[in-house]
Amino acid sequence: MPSGLTGRISPEFKQKEEHHTWESFQKFIDAKKGMDLPGISQLKQYFHRFGYLPTANISKPDFNDHFDQGFESAITLYQSKFGLNVTGKLDSDTVAQLMAPRCGVSDGTVTVRPESAVTVHAIKHFAFFSGEPSWTRTRPMKLTYALSPDDTINYINQANLKEVFRRSFSRWAAVIPVSFTESSDYMFADIRIGFYSGSHGDGEPFDGVLGVLAHAFSPESGRLHLDKAETWSVDFKKDKSSIAIDLESVVTHEIGHVLGLAHSRVKDSVMYPSISPRIKKVDLREDDVRGVQALYGSNPNFRFSSLIQSEISSSSPVSIRLPEKMTAIVVALAALILISYRL
Ligand SMILES: [Zn+2]
Ligand SMILES: [Zn+2]
Repeated sequence: MPSGLTGRISPEFKQKEEHHTWESFQKFIDAKKGMDLPGISQLKQYFHRFGYLPTANISKPDFNDHFDQGFESAITLYQSKFGLNVTGKLDSDTVAQLMAPRCGVSDGTVTVRPESAVTVHAIKHFAFFSGEPSWTRTRPMKLTYALSPDDTINYINQANLKEVFRRSFSRWAAVIPVSFTESSDYMFADIRIGFYSGSHGDGEPFDGVLGVLAHAFSPESGRLHLDKAETWSVDFKKDKSSIAIDLESVVTHEIGHVLGLAHSRVKDSVMYPSISPRIKKVDLREDDVRGVQALYGSNPNFRFSSLIQSEISSSSPVSIRLPEKMTAIVVALAALILISYRL
């Protein structure tokens, strides 16, 4: 593996002709219950993999091409999780979401805590892995991370790559009492990051261009893996590829898994399972922060008021669901804090 390459080698030209994972799902638009369609078994396999379709034989799932009741139930569950119209049908919106690149971590096998703490929230959307695993170290907690010296990419220079990881970790460190330090000792780092192609020894092979982009393991594994086949980007102004994926957005999401968060239903949250090419989504939303703080507590320097203010003033739709009166109070409070801060 050449090291010290600082120039960018554009990978676009070789990927133009390449097959994109899941693009064949397009042909299932408007498939109806009762039909037998070649390839439905692949879609069943997809639903099984991501936690929507159980199977009698877990060690050797065997699916046929019949659009049956179980398959319809899987579609319904998937639609409700992704905030789509719940029709039980393979409408175009559902198929588009199924084809969208996403994280390889399953949406199933999660636990949602019963409402215990009093929050201003009517609904909580964040989730944890089964058993709610988290890192158990003495507080204040210090974790180290390292990028594999061998399993890396060479078309982004190492300094830029390191800066992406540093920023991604710092977003989580800002909200919880945990610090992350880069280590040069890959073998002994708590969190080990690498870029891999296809099968890479953990039973979760990567699938080529788009499809699954990355995955990470729940605490205290510390493994964070990125699919080497993607066109990873740190700057969309320079990278013109239509399939470029923002590295920082995906790394920030995967760190959430490393810390113990499962997928969220909130579309704007960092922990939502899918992200489109050429989209950057790196800022933690209230749902992400509430979730990770339920596991680790709050960073003493963190204030929710600033986060709520930035969510309200951001151009994307506000993800927090507050009763109208409460929203007015929060906005007024945030304004007061801002005013008194400026005075
Ligand atoms: Zn994920
Ligand atoms: Zn892996």
